[in-house]
Amino acid sequence: MLRSKIMSCVKCNLSKSRTNAVPGKGNPTAEILFIGEAPGRNEDLKGEPFVGSAGKILSEALDYAGLSRDDVFITNVVKCRPPSNRLPLQEEKDVCHEHLSKELEIIRPKIICILGNTAYGSLLGGDSITKNRGKIIEKNGQLYFLTIHPAATIYNPELKSVLKDDMKILAKAVAKLKQ
Ligand code: URA
Repeated sequence: MLRSKIMSCVKCNLSKSRTNAVPGKGNPTAEILFIGEAPGRNEDLKGEPFVGSAGKILSEALDYAGLSRDDVFITNVVKCRPPSNRLPLQEEKDVCHEHLSKELEIIRPKIICILGNTAYGSLLGGDSITKNRGKIIEKNGQLYFLTIHPAATIYNPELKSVLKDDMKILAKAVAKLKQ
């Protein structure tokens, strides 16, 4: 099972410093799948994605747009916490991509919501989420929605409304896809 495979993965050095690996979590039939960067301290301790302050901000933005965490699936580019929350290394992202691909294969979301630059770079080769946020793009038959990382709003509170408004755009787009 993918979950146990991720939890026991030792394919990169992050496995040596982690408390828990953090597989994606959520509705297995989710239409929207969110991809963040990497677990932080709270996620590492709990083994669940987005349960710390960035997670609280994400939940608030979802609520604002009428989306529920129970309906979506949330995961990260890398499944183990990088020491001191540094950016994941290219090698770590490459090795962990196998797990992310499997999650995408299993969930088969209608749309993938990219949260921030790490996911943007890893999945789409993009480099400026701030310039491209709010957009829906298609690549290889998969739809993607681009927005900022919830943690960015901690350092710049003005971005909270940007994230919330983006979640509304996303919710509307998904409703339209179902028509
Ligand atoms: N930031 C992320 O990118 N992912 C988490 O799970 C928590 C914080």
